[in-house]
Amino acid sequence: MTEPQPQPHASPLVTFPHMGTSYIPIKVLLESLGLTCIVPPINTPRTLEKSLIQAPEFMCYPFKLILGNLIYGLENGAQTIIFGGSQGPCRQEYYNDVLQSILKDMGYTFSYVTLNLSQLWSRHNYTAVRQAWGVHLGHILKSLALTVDTLFSVDSLSLSARRKRCRTSNKTAVETILHTLTDHVMQAHGHAAITHLVRQAHRHIRALPEEKSPEDILRVAIVGEIFVTSDAFSNLDIERKLGHMGVDVTTYMGPASWVREHLIKALNPFQKTGKAQELSREYWNVDDIGGHGVQTVGNSVLSSRRGYDGIIHLYPLTCMPEIAAQSAFSAIQNRYGVPIMTLVVDEMTGEAGYNTRLEAFVDMIRMRKSRNVNILNVDIPGYKRKQWARNSQKS
Ligand code: SF4
Repeated sequence: MTEPQPQPHASPLVTFPHMGTSYIPIKVLLESLGLTCIVPPINTPRTLEKSLIQAPEFMCYPFKLILGNLIYGLENGAQTIIFGGSQGPCRQEYYNDVLQSILKDMGYTFSYVTLNLSQLWSRHNYTAVRQAWGVHLGHILKSLALTVDTLFSVDSLSLSARRKRCRTSNKTAVETILHTLTDHVMQAHGHAAITHLVRQAHRHIRALPEEKSPEDILRVAIVGEIFVTSDAFSNLDIERKLGHMGVDVTTYMGPASWVREHLIKALNPFQKTGKAQELSREYWNVDDIGGHGVQTVGNSVLSSRRGYDGIIHLYPLTCMPEIAAQSAFSAIQNRYGVPIMTLVVDEMTGEAGYNTRLEAFVDMIRMRKSRNVNILNVDIPGYKRKQWARNSQKS
């Protein structure tokens, strides 16, 4: 009688939700840990088809998209969900409990691995990963290094895309390269293959010609809630729309800035508070109001000081930290004279009205720039006046 042969170990099927391009480094992380990913399709109206029926009506928009992604993952064979949680004054603290409860009520069976996103180096995270998949510390650290490498490659690709969109006259070229990358990444596996695709796309974007003159380019900063500022579907592709209107967009919040803050800087015991947090103190004497409300205020001050032509504040309907942050904007605009427009998004947002507001805002800041309107109301010590002052004599 022949001895039974050991069965090949089937790697566990894991799913996770989208947030912008974060699926690329997360795929690298999970595959480096020896897991198989069920990556939900990029967010579209279909993502919301089932989740809108299940989610509480006034739950945040990101929650509804996340739920839609997880439903897709479970329907396509995922046995485990990996997701992050954090503590704080906003609803994010309840995401994990509410997600699990809804999915169980829908009849799915799964295990749920929660990572502590506020303290990435915590023992909790190590224990959670080790218990779920039996991987040792060295393996986790190596996978993390590959993930961070991918994350920063994707971040610099996004930066080049934002820069190129407003400078090239071939409006479809950047989008075509990015869509092709998405299709290829979904089929590729492992750090080497995926970063090769990302770097190749980056080279193609850099090679596009730049025809627009620098005087025609406007600079706009996007501040606000991290999910909707990073996720193209939920912000109705704001970076593309602005880029095609000749706007060089800067976004402060995204997976790379978050990892820089919570993973890399957290290793430094002498770490000072971030620049945005420091600058927010001009208006608030608090460290945390939930989400990224403090950073929204600080980044608005930073962009005003850096002489941006305008600032767009984006947040999901009913997002408490961003509603609180919005209260500082009239004071910031009065002091620095840089226009700030707030856009609130959810599943009911109409694209036509949204586009009209964007176009009107861009027309207004272009007119201000062409008339050389004075945006400086006060002198700020330590900042170069000529860098951001406009000549009021000419207006
Ligand atoms: S930051 Fe805003 S959108 Fe995000 S969980 Fe908190 S309240 Fe909801």
